[in-house]
Amino acid sequence: MVARDLETQTCGRVVHTRFPPEPNGYLHVGHAKSICLNFGIAQEFSGGLCNLRFDDTNPTKENVEYVESIQEDVRWLGFDWEDRCFFASDYFERLYEYAVFLIKKGKAYVDSLNADDVRAYRGTLTEPGKESPYRTRSVEENLHLFATMRAGDCEEGAHVLRAKIDMASPNVNMRDPTLYRIRRVAHHRTGTAWNIYPTYDFAHPLSDSLEGITHSLCTLEFEDHRPLYDWVLTECEVACHSQQIEFARLNLTHTVMSKRKLLALVEEGHVWGWNDPRLPTLMGLRRRGYPPEAIRRFCEHVGVAKRDSVVEMRLLEHFVREDLNARAQRVMAVLRPLRVVITNYPEGQVEELQAVNNPEDPTMGTRTVPFSRVLYVEQDDFRENPHKKYFRLTPGQEVRLRYAYIVRCVAVIKDEHTGEIVELHCTYDPETKSGSGLSTRKVKGTIHWVSAAHAVEADVRVFDHLFSVPDPGNDKDDYRNFLNPNSFIGLSGCYVEPALQGAVIGRRFQFERQGYFCVDSDSTSQRLVFNRTVALRDSWSKIEKR
Ligand code: ATP
Ligand code: MG
Repeated sequence: MVARDLETQTCGRVVHTRFPPEPNGYLHVGHAKSICLNFGIAQEFSGGLCNLRFDDTNPTKENVEYVESIQEDVRWLGFDWEDRCFFASDYFERLYEYAVFLIKKGKAYVDSLNADDVRAYRGTLTEPGKESPYRTRSVEENLHLFATMRAGDCEEGAHVLRAKIDMASPNVNMRDPTLYRIRRVAHHRTGTAWNIYPTYDFAHPLSDSLEGITHSLCTLEFEDHRPLYDWVLTECEVACHSQQIEFARLNLTHTVMSKRKLLALVEEGHVWGWNDPRLPTLMGLRRRGYPPEAIRRFCEHVGVAKRDSVVEMRLLEHFVREDLNARAQRVMAVLRPLRVVITNYPEGQVEELQAVNNPEDPTMGTRTVPFSRVLYVEQDDFRENPHKKYFRLTPGQEVRLRYAYIVRCVAVIKDEHTGEIVELHCTYDPETKSGSGLSTRKVKGTIHWVSAAHAVEADVRVFDHLFSVPDPGNDKDDYRNFLNPNSFIGLSGCYVEPALQGAVIGRRFQFERQGYFCVDSDSTSQRLVFNRTVALRDSWSKIEKR
């Protein structure tokens, strides 16, 4: 549509879009779709521009904390509004003038019905509305009353300014919609200067027009508002008639995205805060370790549609894996440690073994990993009584230690009282060093490990879907009933290889054979904390099937 408009020159020659968040909450991945679409379309066409505009017409729920975090999130996603960050509140004076213009044209009037009557007079989807007795007020009276409203000489709810359109319109939005309400509340930018505030339906088209927006992209629920959008611009006789185009909002499985529901999750303490790594908020995903590039690729892949649909969370995770696979350094980390003593390895000896940082990207080079007599391996990589398809460590069975030697378990040491396994005794074959070219012997399994004397202790947070059903937000049930009790597992006493000592917050790694992890902001110089960004493969669907 944009390309066509450029060809027919209905929008001049330069595309100009905007991303218009209301600063009443934090951005989520649904907003990311809108951001990618608006900034993306501007980038797609030569000279295209995209504004950031705060739609701050409702002072009761908005504040500057949200403004700042929204700016940070948009930047983090990789977009730049340059010098074009605007606020609808910057236009309050001009919007007021437009309202006066409409009153003078006989296209707007002050209504003094109370809210209940306004509702009753509006009619229903099947019945036409009824005209308010105040609809025939004179222009002079309307101008006077509107000025009184502005001056703060009226109670909230005493009057509203309404467009004079058509109370019998089949489109309820066209039945004399409200343009201004009295709200005697301070605004985070204009302070107490205003006692009346414009509605979205009035402020949005005019803000678009004032900024020279050519294409005003919004979500499908505004489709029925489009006639009103056009009415406002036509009747205000603006120079730039922006064009509203609707697209389907992004919905994701296993989460909720309504601001109201997210706010409740935070306020009721179901999550740690707005940046909880389980939330679909951009600050949550960032803390979780999702790269902005992956979110952009995902949004691009999902595309724009005219019909609502639900996208699987798995698809977003796929893009995260794909991105991190190419970029993340591989390291070894043991989350649930089991001690292993290599009984025939010389005490006190340490070898620095070569390990590849990323097999997908040779330019990332290699590093050394210390190997010594006492190691930790993953508890899950040992079975005393294995299934016959189990190719990892078992009594008697050989397995390769990644980047190191082939070992064989020769004894299982247990606690005499509890019977729990305390440690394994293994022997290694010095002829089988990785990369030495000495050995051609193959074994079926390779497992990761860390050297006990060198490993760095860490906490690891393993996350899963916040909700255990695909559609927690369905309106039949309370979404809180579907919170996944296992969405967070906190592990401590994990061990990571020494290369990770001092890793900076936000840095992402692949823990070999396990998944992608990033350094959490709770890390200190004393203790590393990692978040699991995503597992290597989708274990969830398997668990679900079972
Ligand atoms: P609410 O309806 O609770 O105010 P909102 O999500 O519409 O929330 P806005 O701040 O008005 O909040 O959204 C900014 C922009 O992002 C709007 O243009 C909106 O249409 C778009 N947007 C919001 N949610 C989604 C979504 N899930 N998918 C795509 N775009 C979205
Ligand atoms: Mg909105």
